[in-house]
Amino acid sequence: MGTLDPLETFNLGTDMKRYYKAVGNVRGACTHRHRSVRTAYKCAIKDGQGLTGGAYSDRLPRAFEAGDRVEMTDSEIDMLDKLQRKRCAGTALRDL
Ligand SMILES: [Zn+2]
Repeated sequence: MGTLDPLETFNLGTDMKRYYKAVGNVRGACTHRHRSVRTAYKCAIKDGQGLTGGAYSDRLPRAFEAGDRVEMTDSEIDMLDKLQRKRCAGTALRDL
């Protein structure tokens, strides 16, 4: 393990402040603090897989900072679009 340069340390700190949850109006928010849009999206899919009777989860990844929901950046929205397209194309959850 080398020493982190100041910029890298700063970026790590910033990343830790921002996190993601799988949130839905009906299903509510998951209890995790996901580090990426991808893991929050997988969490949302798994939430739906736990339901029966044709029900599905309305959860989607949402960005948070210090406990407050914040706007997703363009790159985060692009990532979500990409994940949803891959999922619609039949990509397995573990391969997202
Ligand atoms: Zn979660």
